[in-house]
Formats: sequence, structure tokens, C-alpha cells
Amino acid sequence: MRGKKLRTSEWFPWILVYVFVVAAPVLVMLIGPRPEGRPFLRDFSVAMAFCAMSIVGLQFVLTARIPSLKRPFGSDVVYYFHHRISVVAAGLVLLHLIVLAVDDASTWSLLAFWSAPVRARFAFASLLCLLALVLVSVFRKKLRVEYITWRITHGLLAMGAVAFAMTHMQLVGIYLSLPWKRVLWAAYAAVWIGALAYARVIRPIAMKLRPYEIASITEERGSAWSLRLAPLGHAGARFAPGQFAWITVGRSPFADLEHPFSYSSSAADPGSPVFTIKATGDFTNRIADLDVGIRVYVDGPFGAFSLDRRPAAEEFVFIAGGIGITPMMSMLRTMRDRRDTRRCTLIYAARSLEEMTFREELEGIGEDLNLRLHLVPTVADDEWKGPHGRIGPEILSEILPPSCKEGACEIYLCGPPPMMDAIEALLVRLGVPVQQIHTERFNLA
Ligand SMILES: Cc1cc2nc3c(=O)[nH]c(=O)nc-3n(C[C@H](O)[C@H](O)[C@H](O)COP(=O)(O)OP(=O)(O)OC[C@H]3O[C@@H](n4cnc5c(N)ncnc54)[C@H](O)[C@@H]3O)c2cc1C
Repeated sequence: MRGKKLRTSEWFPWILVYVFVVAAPVLVMLIGPRPEGRPFLRDFSVAMAFCAMSIVGLQFVLTARIPSLKRPFGSDVVYYFHHRISVVAAGLVLLHLIVLAVDDASTWSLLAFWSAPVRARFAFASLLCLLALVLVSVFRKKLRVEYITWRITHGLLAMGAVAFAMTHMQLVGIYLSLPWKRVLWAAYAAVWIGALAYARVIRPIAMKLRPYEIASITEERGSAWSLRLAPLGHAGARFAPGQFAWITVGRSPFADLEHPFSYSSSAADPGSPVFTIKATGDFTNRIADLDVGIRVYVDGPFGAFSLDRRPAAEEFVFIAGGIGITPMMSMLRTMRDRRDTRRCTLIYAARSLEEMTFREELEGIGEDLNLRLHLVPTVADDEWKGPHGRIGPEILSEILPPSCKEGACEIYLCGPPPMMDAIEALLVRLGVPVQQIHTERFNLA
């Protein structure tokens, strides 16, 4: 299977729809009767709050993993946007309050929760939820909040922020005087609740109907284990090499305890998917102790990090660090199975040669591919004749094929965040067009 090249017509309409949905409540607000003599600043502040409200509500849609929405952009871009736009929404809500206070300084007194009118209390509660949500998300790692605790509170705070804000709007009522304006907001709320239901009920049901079990567990170099899954009663899901899926191991798909992992197996064999998992934390440290036969649920595939998105490319460069080799492995194994002999280069960095996951297979796979392999251990003994140390400008400019600077190769990069940031910047400095650098970040949250 080769994927189609992405056309502007696939992603641009989504941007237009997003902007329209965020702006529509403001346009609607301006139509119909408004209270006489109401200062412009008050209308302006409400417009900002309405935009913030639409943005926060749309976050439920953005994170519902709706395939047609994720396909054009890729999950990391959608999550990146989700993070940034929530800061914008919180800023708009704060501006809403500040502009109201500029118009009428007595607005500040509404912050005295117990003496404030009920409508203001709801606004205050919504603001607190939104600020807590943004601050805890931005500083989660510094605050040492466990991922799963954060994920549960994140969902609750988001629902609280929206529900309290909706109640505040209803209680203020000025801009919802006409029935069809109320219908518009009811329709918005229905879409948001629908997106939540899709993510929390419909997708888990779909997973439950298509279970898998662990068929084998293989220890790999670099404290990693490969889980080969066997579909139970179905043929498995087709995926593009380089994509990932959310997997739930030994629990109900409704438990919301899933983790994202890239497929490491060939896309030519969707009936036997493999995920290679490095032990790094609570869940991944338990992989080695799992048993064959345990039930697994797979939600996917997702992601745009795939050579199938560039069917016309003549040459590929894969740059992997540590466990970031998994999507590259899937792409290389798929190329081998498809007898795809386009030129490719793999630059693979890890702490040492011993820790290079799939090392033996990589050293042999070149016989079936048009592959140049460069293993770059950070530390190596005197016998090692290849490059070593961190991948810097010298190593990269020596290894990078000349076609990359001429815009004729596609570069795929996946590894630890500091390595990715450094190499992305280096590639740009070396003259590689930015649209040819594709990244997969293993830290969505
Ligand atoms: C698109 C993508 C593809 C990935 N592919 C692979 C792969 O092929 N092989 C591999 O070993 N790792 C992969 N990862 C990383 C893997 O998902 C995390 O290492 C794993 O979820 C950590 O879980 P933990 O409980 O063991 O670690 P913890 O120590 O609990 O968490 C470490 C960090 O991992 C992230 N994390 C934890 N749980 C989740 C979760 N449920 N969902 C999302 N993020 C979480 C959080 O940022 C957290 O701070 C991938 C991540 C992403 C986003």
C-alpha cells in the first residue's frame, strides 16, 4: 500500500471550519437586539469570552482522535495546537475580565466569591478550572504530577471550565435573549458532548469488538521488549509504516489506561502487528513480566509520520535516537517486504552499540534494501571505526546525502526531545528545506 500525497484541499477546509466555528458566536452576538447604551468595551469583552468558550469546547473535538481530522495534520501537530490554543483561550478569558474591569472598576468586586452574585461565581469557578488546567499541564513534570493523575484531572477540569462557563452565560442571559441564539450554543454543546462520547464510549466499544492477544514477547537490545499481537476473530488493522496506536494491555478499553506506541513491524503484515517498548516508567517497566495470551486492545493507527505520505520521494534519510528507532524499523521492514529499492540512509544514535535495539537486523537488512547504515554510539571503544559521540554538524554534514540540500530527499527524525531539537536546527542550518523534515515526538503530553 502506498499512501496518497497530501493535498491542500485535505487540510485547508479544516482550518476554515475551525476559524468559522470559533468566530461564529461573535457574529451571531452582533445580530438582533442588544441592550441600549451598552458600552463597546463590554461587547468587546464578551466577544473574547465567546471565542474562548468555542476554543475550549473544540478541544474535546481535537482530542477525540477523529481519524479524518487527524489524518491531514498528524497527531503531534494536533496535540501541539491543542496545547498552544488552550493558553490563548485562558488569555482571552483573563482579558474578558480585565476589559470588563477597565469599563467598570467595580467588576473586581465580583472576584469576592461568597459575596458575588451567583452568575459571577460560576464565571469565577470556570476561570479557576481553566487556569488550573493550563498551569498544571504546562508545569506537570516540574510539579511531579503523575501522568495518569494529570490525565484524569485534566478531563475533569476541562468539563468543569465549560459547564461553569455555560451556566454563567445562561445566567447573564443578555446575549442569549433570542431562542435561535440559545439553539446555536445548545448545538455547540451537543457537538462537544458528542466528541466526548465518541472518545470515551464509541471508540472503546469499537476496540472491545476487535480484541488482540499477546502472541509473543521478545527481549531486544536497549531494555526493550517486542510485543507481537494476534488479532482475535478479525484480520487486524491496516496501518502505514511509521504510524502509532494507543494500546491497552490487560484492562478494559473503557478504563482509559492506554499508552501510545509506534508499530515496529512491517505494514505488509497487518495481521501480526508488533510494538517494541522500552522500559522507562510505571507501565513500560511491567512489559517484561507480561504473559503470552493476555488481552490487548488497539486504537489506531494514527499519525502522519510515514514514508507513505511522500510516494514520489526518491530518497529517504531516517535519523533515530534510542527507542525512536521503532517507526524507522517499521518503514525499513515495509520497504523490504514491498521490494522498494529507493535509496535510503539510516543514522541511528544510542548510548552504546550494545543498547542499539534491532542492531543485528539492521546490519543485515541492507542486503534487501538500497540502504546506507550509520550507527553512531555516544560512547565506543577503540575498535569502533565508525562515527561516535553526539550527532553534530561534522557527523551530519559528512553523512547527509547531497540530495537533501537540493530538496530531493525526505528526512524522518525521531528520538529524545533534546536530540530532536538539536538535529532539526542543524538540518535547517545545513540548508535542508524545512518541509522535508518530518518528526515524531514520543511526548504528546
Ligand atoms: C506517538 C508516540 C509513539 C511512541 N512510540 C513508542 C515506541 O514505539 N516505543 C516506546 O518504548 N515508547 C514509545 N512512546 C513513548 C511511550 O508512550 C511512553 O514511554 C509510555 O507511555 C510511558 O509510560 P510509563 O507509564 O511507562 O511511563 P511514566 O514514567 O509513567 O511516564 C513517562 C512519560 O511518558 C508519557 N506518558 C505516560 N503515560 C502515557 C500515556 N498513557 N499516554 C501518553 N503519554 C504517556 C508522559 O509524558 C510521562 O511523563 C511513544 C509515544 C508517542 C507519543
